[in-house]
Amino acid sequence: MTEQITLHRFDDMHCHFRTGEILKTVVPLTSLYAGRAVVMPNTRPRAILDADDVTWYREQILAAIPPDHRDCFHPLMTIEIRNETTPAMVYAAYRAGAIAAKVYPRGVTTNAEHGMEQLLSAQAIDTFRALDELGMLLLIHGERDEPRLLVTQREEAFLPTLQQLALQLPTLRIVLEHVSTRVGVETVRSLGANVAATITAHHLCLTLNDVIGNGVHPHHACMPTPKGFDDLDALIEAATSGDPKFFLGSDTAPHLREKKECAHGACGVFTAPILPMLLADMFERADRLDRLDDFVSRFGAEFYRIPRNHRKIVLGKRSWCVPAEYAGIVPFKAGELLSWQLIDSCVC
Ligand SMILES: [Zn+2]
Repeated sequence: MTEQITLHRFDDMHCHFRTGEILKTVVPLTSLYAGRAVVMPNTRPRAILDADDVTWYREQILAAIPPDHRDCFHPLMTIEIRNETTPAMVYAAYRAGAIAAKVYPRGVTTNAEHGMEQLLSAQAIDTFRALDELGMLLLIHGERDEPRLLVTQREEAFLPTLQQLALQLPTLRIVLEHVSTRVGVETVRSLGANVAATITAHHLCLTLNDVIGNGVHPHHACMPTPKGFDDLDALIEAATSGDPKFFLGSDTAPHLREKKECAHGACGVFTAPILPMLLADMFERADRLDRLDDFVSRFGAEFYRIPRNHRKIVLGKRSWCVPAEYAGIVPFKAGELLSWQLIDSCVC
C-alpha cells in the first residue's frame, strides 16, 4: 500500500477567491499546495472586466498570500467577457496580465445575471478573435438556460454552441469548465486539440442524489449540478485516463454558511481546504494514483502553455478530520475523515 506521495504543486485552473474577508480566508488555503490558480472574475460588488480591475484584484490576492508562500504561489488573472466587452478591452487586460477570459451565458450561475447572451454573434466572435491573437484562452461555463430546460439538461444543451465555437475559431484554446456529463466528456474528446475541459473534485464524488436525494444538502449544491451515475463514471474515467484534454479546475466556491443554509441558497462547493487529500483518495479508489500528478500539475500547464511548477508537495497516509468550518465557510466533507493528509507543502 502506498504510504506517501509526492506531487508537483497544483495548477488549480478554476478557482473562486471572492473579495474582502472571504478572500483573506481562502487564498492562504489554496496557496498551501497550489503553484498557480486561475482566478475567476465573477466577483461582487466589483467584477473583473478590464485592465484596471485586473490590477486591482491581483493586488488584493497577492496581499493575502502568507509570507512563506509568496514565491511559490502565483494567481493567474482573468477577465469576464460580457456583451459590452470590446477587443480593445481584451488587449488592455492582456497588457495588465490577464491570461484568459471567462464567459458565463446569462443567468446560469452565481453572479451571471450580466452574462453574455449570444456567444455566436459577430461581435462576440470578434472579441474571441482578439483572445486568439493574443494567445489568451477562452474559458466557458458551458450551460444554456432556457425556460423549459431542466437544470440537469443545461450542459448538454450548450454543447452545440461549443462545437460551433471550436469550428469557427480553430486556433483559439477553449476550456469547457467543470464538465459534468458523459456527453460533455465525449464532445470534448471529439473536438480538436484546441478544446479541453476542467474537472472538479466534487463532480468526481457527487450525483444529484447527494444534493437532493436524502434531504436537501446545501453544501453540495453547485452549478453545473451533479448528475447521474453514468455521468459520474465518465468523469472519473476521463480524470484518471491520462488523456491530456482533462485537467484539474476545482471550482472551489466559498460562500458564508448563512448564504448556503437558507431559502434560495447560493450554489458552489468549497473544496479548497481538502483538494489534494480528496483527489488522492479518489484516484486511489480508482487504482490510478500514478495518474494524479499529471491531472493536477501537468496537463493544465501544457494546455495553458506555461512551464510546470517545479516545487512539490507531499501527502501521507494519515487519517484527518475535515474541520467544521473556516471563518464561517463550511468545507466539502466537513466533519468527515479523509485518509490522506498534507505533510509537506513546499519541497524544492
Ligand atoms: Zn466557477
